[in-house]
Amino acid sequence: MTLQVARTRDEAHLYLDLHPCVCGSVETAWDSGVVDLAGELAACYDGICADCGVERKFVFALPQREVMPEGWPTFGGPEPSQLLDAGEWLWVSDLTAGNVPTDDQNAARQALAMARAAVDEVMKFIPDGHEHVPDHAFWSELGRQVRDAEPARFRRERLEVVRDTYRDLAIDA
Ligand SMILES: [Zn+2]
Repeated sequence: MTLQVARTRDEAHLYLDLHPCVCGSVETAWDSGVVDLAGELAACYDGICADCGVERKFVFALPQREVMPEGWPTFGGPEPSQLLDAGEWLWVSDLTAGNVPTDDQNAARQALAMARAAVDEVMKFIPDGHEHVPDHAFWSELGRQVRDAEPARFRRERLEVVRDTYRDLAIDA
């Protein structure tokens, strides 16, 4: 069994939020710990669904090099995600940027930080010297839908503009 790497806790929690319980709820108080799987250490997240009471569990591989969080959110080091594909990251960014609270400055800054960090994650899929996100960076149905809706959004230039816009908005928020 090959486990996907969760680079950081923030990335693992985002993935958990995107994977609801069979009952549809995402309300779970997660416990996490390191477990030994046949000699390999892995990160285990488990908890009880607050709505239906079922036990939920996800196991992720540990990153090769631990990433020290630098502010919130820190989804990972320079290497691209294994948990979310490029289209899913842009979807997360769009969703967050589209729901920036207007009555809470702190929450607004957090939402914009999340939107910006998610665009950074999209850009990590672009190999050095290339100008757009490669096809193999879209492996989920949602991710492919986002790309097919507007492939030009996955060009480096456009992503940089979007990212900088979220950064500037966060400064002004
Ligand atoms: Zn449930």
